[in-house]
Amino acid sequence: MPEGHTIHRLARLLNGSLAGKPVRASSPQGRFADGAERLDGLTLLGADAWGKYLFCNFDSGEVLHVHLGLIGKFRARKAPIPDPVGAVRLRLQNGAIAWDLSGPTRCEIISPIEQEQIWSRLGADPLRSDADVAAARDKFTHSKRAVGALVLDQSVVAGIGNVYRAELLFLCGIHPARPANSLTEEEFAQLWSETVRLLRLGERMGRIVTTDPAEIGATRSRMKAEERLYAYHRQICKRCGSGIEVLKIGGRPIWYCPSCQP
Ligand SMILES: [Zn+2]
Repeated sequence: MPEGHTIHRLARLLNGSLAGKPVRASSPQGRFADGAERLDGLTLLGADAWGKYLFCNFDSGEVLHVHLGLIGKFRARKAPIPDPVGAVRLRLQNGAIAWDLSGPTRCEIISPIEQEQIWSRLGADPLRSDADVAAARDKFTHSKRAVGALVLDQSVVAGIGNVYRAELLFLCGIHPARPANSLTEEEFAQLWSETVRLLRLGERMGRIVTTDPAEIGATRSRMKAEERLYAYHRQICKRCGSGIEVLKIGGRPIWYCPSCQP
């Protein structure tokens, strides 16, 4: 499931392989034929991510806005570039590589002003150097909502999805139903720094790993899928062995350990 780390990784890879040169754009599936036609032949100036939103800026001023949603994928196909497989909404390519977008919830061309409007609605992104941490802390200080709801609210912190939410609150020992304004300054600071650390790690690895290699006895890249998370979607806490419990907070289930997160 794509969370902020996936989108930032995508932006980095798109910049490395497509930016600075004209790209060919097409919509093999046909649903984005008009948009692809507008982008075809333009030079990609750069891709940028904010939370779970991806923006590709072209030299014409047009901005491609993509949101992968729960099942969207943006996959690289290296030369010799194969024919598109499945329902590919958009293919961006040069001679060396093609990027195939399938199943996004959003794929549209917007203006720079509309891009600014989307940004202004999004909260601090832990993976951006311009993240407004003070604004995020303020929203916590002034909210009685459950911390589990605030962490998932993209207008407060942009980029955390359901997996990172459960794991971050686990690592910080915070019960997900606690009111956000009950967090101490130290707790918020730890929550923020853990978020930055884990999302950066996920961006580098291309997958979510939150467990400590020393605790598991394996490097992160050698861990089995079952060893990569402490609480999310588990029955038993990976750290203490207690039974994991589930609550519905912020509209989605959150798994937590009642012993590690009293
Ligand atoms: Zn536990």
